[in-house]
Amino acid sequence: MSKMSQWPHLNNKLDLERFYARFKNATDEWEFIQCQNYHDSHFSHTPCEVCMRELGGERWTYTVILKCGAKFEYEVCIDCHEMIQFGDLNEPELMKIEEE
Ligand SMILES: [Zn+2]
Repeated sequence: MSKMSQWPHLNNKLDLERFYARFKNATDEWEFIQCQNYHDSHFSHTPCEVCMRELGGERWTYTVILKCGAKFEYEVCIDCHEMIQFGDLNEPELMKIEEE
């Protein structure tokens, strides 16, 4: 089994709701966000710092400034990356869940 196949997929609507809730909770205090380099993702087994899912996958590095002014760097998974960039998950991913 390749490492990529261990990515924690969102398999049903419950997973999706949990993911949305975690994302909303984590990003609630964000005032400013910027992807440091769209073309420079890297593989990591460290949990995504937004949705906190634990299995490995691609990560993008983001600079985040909170409403209180504190500045952080976050390692963000592909699903959270898409949420930030496009406001939702990509359509093939959502279609797959709808079909379950
Ligand atoms: Zn994530």
